[in-house]
Amino acid sequence: MKSGRHFLQIPGPTNVPDRILRAIAQPTIDHRGPAFAALGREAIAGLQRIFQTTGAVVIYPCSGSGAWEAAFVNTLSPGDTLLMVETGQFAMLWRDMAIKLGLQVDFIPGDWRHGVDAAAIRDRLTKDASHTIKAVAVVHNETSTGVTSSIPAVRRAIDDTGHPALLLVDAVSSLGSIDYRHAEWGVDVTVSSSQKGMMLPPGMGFNAISARALGASATARLPRAYWDWQPMIRDNAAGFFPTTPAINLLYGLREAVHMLEEEGLANVFARHVRFGEATRRAVAAWGLELLCARPEEYSHALTAVVMPAGHDADAFRKIVLERFDMSLGAGLGKLKGKVFRIGHLGDLNDLMLAGTLSGVEMGLAAAGVPFNRGGITAALEYLAGSHS
Ligand SMILES: *Cc1c(COP(=O)(O)O)cnc(C)c1O
Repeated sequence: MKSGRHFLQIPGPTNVPDRILRAIAQPTIDHRGPAFAALGREAIAGLQRIFQTTGAVVIYPCSGSGAWEAAFVNTLSPGDTLLMVETGQFAMLWRDMAIKLGLQVDFIPGDWRHGVDAAAIRDRLTKDASHTIKAVAVVHNETSTGVTSSIPAVRRAIDDTGHPALLLVDAVSSLGSIDYRHAEWGVDVTVSSSQKGMMLPPGMGFNAISARALGASATARLPRAYWDWQPMIRDNAAGFFPTTPAINLLYGLREAVHMLEEEGLANVFARHVRFGEATRRAVAAWGLELLCARPEEYSHALTAVVMPAGHDADAFRKIVLERFDMSLGAGLGKLKGKVFRIGHLGDLNDLMLAGTLSGVEMGLAAAGVPFNRGGITAALEYLAGSHS
């Protein structure tokens, strides 16, 4: 038994605030009864504001991967070609899913240290004069690398070529932590889920859907049943769902939206920008390397740190967990053992981040990793000097 709170500093699932846990701990009610309709309507309307859209938003009981699948099966047909970009492990997994569903993927290779190259997308679309490519699907915040791509740049690349491809975006680890604008950025389907910036437990996946994507769903022929948008949208209008929704998580979602709006979305995003900067100052002072290669693409939600050669990131994480009761993110896929990831998204304040970075610094010493002292001081000076 450990005293005090566990530090859950992985980039999802994130800390669930007490307010949300209390909201979830209400009686489960009849999802076809009148009391439920208000909850359903408020949860959906709130989520629209977080996606920054007035268009359709659907909520499934599932993890983020279910929402990935929903985006594909509602808009595409067997054999359709998708243009995707290898930003990291999540882009790979989403690509693998597309292939399993019978889609063709033109996968632009990447080194897992850069975001989406909009010029490469422009190139591919320019060459695709016959419009074989039906959709461009990219990850906004690549959680395996701590690299954030510019979605407006991708939109411009598509528009420049006049290509009709749909734009599908994974905003699973950015929604509620990094500025994300579904409508203004002209995204056709945005995929997200509950357990990252939204501060909820895992268990709900989301799609935000443009009018064009809805139009595409009328003719898309990939088999779909559970994931079909149409019955969802039909029943959602009155606040209901075609199957049993995650009723208690919807109480939590309503509360999460209240919390984000009380703070103000702009302030939420600014807070994450500060946390990212403070973390990177600590990493720089430690003399360690960031995985993300370009400052314009630094993630505000998490930081992936490269382990010095000859040291195992998982051995370090094990020591941090055992000694300091803190979970840090593992290196995923080909980065296993080579990087560790510090989650700084969701329900977090200056002192929680200071505690997190202290745990990293003490862990580096305990694991015998060569580093310079002073990371904590650098982070604290920045946090103290940048407070609004
Ligand atoms: C967490 C995450 C997902 C979804 O993962 P699930 O385990 O299915 O919830 C998808 N994309 C990104 C970028 C993620 O961070």
